[in-house]
Amino acid sequence: MKLTNTLTRTKETFKPGGPEVKLYTCGPTVYHYAHIGNLRNVIFNDTLRRSLEQTGYKVKHIMNVTDVGHLSSDADEGEDKLEKGAAREGKTVWEVAQYYLDAFNDHTKLLGILKPAKLIRATEAINPQIEIIKTLIEKGYAYQAHQAIYFDISKLKDYGKLTGQKLKDKEIGARPDVVTDPEKHHPQDFALWFFTVGHFADHQMRWPSPWGEGFPGWHLECSAIIHLALGEPIDIHTGGADHIGTHHTNEIAQSEAAFGKPLSRFWLHNEFLHVDGSKIAKSGGNSITLPDLLAKGYDPLAFRLMMLQAHYRSEQDFSWDGLNAATNLLQNLRAWADLRFQDEPTIKFKAFKDALDKPMQDDLATPAALSVISQHQGNIPDQQALELIDAYLGLGLSRRDDVSSEIKSLIADREAARRSKNYKKSDELRAKLEKQGVEVDDTPSGPRWRRISS
Ligand code: AMP
Ligand code: ZN
Repeated sequence: MKLTNTLTRTKETFKPGGPEVKLYTCGPTVYHYAHIGNLRNVIFNDTLRRSLEQTGYKVKHIMNVTDVGHLSSDADEGEDKLEKGAAREGKTVWEVAQYYLDAFNDHTKLLGILKPAKLIRATEAINPQIEIIKTLIEKGYAYQAHQAIYFDISKLKDYGKLTGQKLKDKEIGARPDVVTDPEKHHPQDFALWFFTVGHFADHQMRWPSPWGEGFPGWHLECSAIIHLALGEPIDIHTGGADHIGTHHTNEIAQSEAAFGKPLSRFWLHNEFLHVDGSKIAKSGGNSITLPDLLAKGYDPLAFRLMMLQAHYRSEQDFSWDGLNAATNLLQNLRAWADLRFQDEPTIKFKAFKDALDKPMQDDLATPAALSVISQHQGNIPDQQALELIDAYLGLGLSRRDDVSSEIKSLIADREAARRSKNYKKSDELRAKLEKQGVEVDDTPSGPRWRRISS
């Protein structure tokens, strides 16, 4: 299988380093519903995992849940998102986190996402985070200031290797409006532990530490959870492309400084989803969520299919027209899947599998995989072919049921009436079937049914 590794900027042949694929994903920040951009990331992770499993690998997939508020800016500044969410909703930060974590689990289930082996909340891994800070201080990579304990990036010779950016370029690119702690040795040094002083004196989530009460910086939870649940080096680390420059760069810095091993062999990043050409902004009114799609009557799997229509490494644009088109395509695929109940399969499974494996094994080329499926739609599928599609794409085509025996006998009666030229009866039976959501077409090979709405 070939995957594009952000670390080397090339498409490489992937093989796990051990008996199972150690896969880690940066999970949701649970202060708000995941928006459709976040869901694009979730669908990408799931496609990767499904493809690895389809290749024959056993996958151990771990995901964190950011339930300690991380700040509105990557540069350790700004407001705490969880605290902001709590204030907005008149709840405690703990209640906010639980509510949105439950919602995330519900939404991903509706999207047909396989559950990670473990979902670990940052608040469940406070001690492992403190242990990493201890190690980093002992090894001389971290220093204590009044507001926070910082990681000293000048101590690492390859800081920033994930972006390929030189530190000097990154400094120039730093936002001028970010006010940094004057006690930082270098403006890009990042917080490992915030003390509940000054700006954060009223922070709700706080824990004791050997250096004083406070809460961890958000990059640290991923390093700690990876160490705890998988062990370095892992095989694949994923996230959205926005994480490359800061979050993943800092995860690498902390973990590699603390444990002296590469954090991950492969780094995979999905590109961004935009809405009608604009960046998704929580405040901009285009932060569409799964409940928004459900309220408009869309099928979550139509959204999933829409996301698969673009390659994960390309930017993608969401529009309602695009979602309508994906809805039609899904109906079309479902009608095709239902043909297996009505006719002998004509698909050549081996040829179909070879054709579908090829794009999926080539850096998860889902648009090409969808065209392979469409090229085979002239054939009647079998269960195995639909299971293969689902194994890769999670569209639920193989799980469809046959129509009931009652509907089958109505179809047979209608056909008998039609053959005996009793058109009145055949029309009545057609209307009856339509009321039950089934439409019948007369074809040269006999009547064929289709479900009207799904
Ligand atoms: P967050 O909850 O902000 O940490 O984001 C969760 C995941 O969604 C991260 O991997 C982000 O990189 C990713 N993400 C955020 N916005 C988008 C977007 N518009 N399109 C695709 N992925 C996104
Ligand atoms: Zn992370």
